Amino acid sequence: MATRVPGPLTRPAAAATGPVATADGLTRRFGERTVLDRLDLEIGRGEFIALLGRSGSGKSTLLRALAGLDSEAEGGLSVTGSVAVAFQEPRLVPWKRVHANITLGLAVPDPKEKADAALAEVGLTERAGAWPLTLSGGEAQRASLARALVREPDLLLLDEPFSALDALTRITIHQLVLQLWSVHRPAVLLVTHDVDEALLLADRVLVLDRGRIAHESDVPAPRPRHRDHPDLTSLRTTL
Ligand code: ADP
Ligand code: MG
Repeated sequence: MATRVPGPLTRPAAAATGPVATADGLTRRFGERTVLDRLDLEIGRGEFIALLGRSGSGKSTLLRALAGLDSEAEGGLSVTGSVAVAFQEPRLVPWKRVHANITLGLAVPDPKEKADAALAEVGLTERAGAWPLTLSGGEAQRASLARALVREPDLLLLDEPFSALDALTRITIHQLVLQLWSVHRPAVLLVTHDVDEALLLADRVLVLDRGRIAHESDVPAPRPRHRDHPDLTSLRTTL
């Protein structure tokens, strides 16, 4: 990949060391049903993890807990630093233009400049003034990534963000995610149903089953990454 000049979104190297998130016996019950069952998990800084598991195995429940969106999870959970989430459906506010969606609720001194930089990074500068409903699936997902990125998260939670995209758009967004990850280095926890996608993107693959991390494997290097693809920019702007 071409060397990138750090833009305004680049944060200094994290001063803190140690894991960005630790679940220690995390448990979540819905009535009689125990969805997360004393789950243990450690997410290191800058790590790219893929989380696989059957539908209903509790992947989204785990992400909600990590995002601080679930006050009823029990057990140990510690998250240091900021967290951002991108969902399968981009969840843009339809009556606000793309740029306003990025700055929505953004508490920094220069939200406009931050949003401009994030939109440039995902290749959406020309669509900044567009209404969300006029975006293609790939554009909406890129806007969703920009909205997450602009928060400079230490932990980026991606809940099946690519599964509704067509195959070609998905490849482009994969490359974009790898590029954003290699520049900003948040820890990423990506939920996916796609084993190939998990192996392509992640350093470590986890499988959630019966409320626990049932399998775990490091992805051996060299991985089949597209990170170094020379045509990244042109590919990105075609979709
Ligand atoms: P996954 O993302 O792996 O498909 P989820 O985390 O969405 O699975 O759901 C895991 C289980 O928890 C499912 O059986 C689901 O029905 C249940 N569940 C999730 N959220 C709620 C809720 N708010 N109330 C009751 N049950 C829920
Ligand atoms: Mg889910």
